[in-house]
Amino acid sequence: MNAFIVRLQYLMLANEWSNMDHIINGVLSFQKNIFPEHQKLFDELATQQSPEVLFITCSDSRIDPNLVTQSKPGDLFICRNAGNIIPPHSQATGGMTASIEYAVAVLGVRHIVVCGHTDCGAMKGVLNMDALEDLPHVKEWLGHSRSAVEVAKVLGQPSGTTQLKRVTEENILQQIQHLKTHPVVASRLATGQLQLHAWMYDIETGGMCCSDGKSRSFEPLEGFYQSLG
Ligand SMILES: [Zn+2]
Repeated sequence: MNAFIVRLQYLMLANEWSNMDHIINGVLSFQKNIFPEHQKLFDELATQQSPEVLFITCSDSRIDPNLVTQSKPGDLFICRNAGNIIPPHSQATGGMTASIEYAVAVLGVRHIVVCGHTDCGAMKGVLNMDALEDLPHVKEWLGHSRSAVEVAKVLGQPSGTTQLKRVTEENILQQIQHLKTHPVVASRLATGQLQLHAWMYDIETGGMCCSDGKSRSFEPLEGFYQSLG
């Protein structure tokens, strides 16, 4: 009987592992093929980093910041959470607050990108908070985005744009405002040492749109940065 239970446990474990097969094989392939190809880069990064950009985005599995920006290890200091939310500065210490403080004050990043995305589950949750009764932590966290819903409500949305997209865009702009409440960010902005970027990624098309926050509209990245000169 005991042998049967042990065998059953082994089968259950093997089944659980099988779901990880492609991830485990990926690590082995990385170690065997990719790492040696970039040995010089990893040697340089072994004991130091100096990223220029703090990249804040959603935890959504469909976004790969390094892939989308075609950047390498060491280029982006990345913070991810549900809804790419940055709580306003307070005396309470949280992971986002500490990461922002470290990235700006210690690593000296020159740019912070807040990147939201289409079809965001967190933003769907913000639009239907009543459905989150059984997820108290999610509900509390998404409370940092409620003002995006209110702004989108009073301003309405251009034809051809969904309420979800509009709220997602407003949320990005709201989180940029929250960023500015962090003392380390405010001080670097005041001295021109830091720039903030509001980005919206389209999962379906690979498109990236940006906003300066003044017009509240988002324009394609290429034209946006050209127009800034
Ligand atoms: Zn999301």
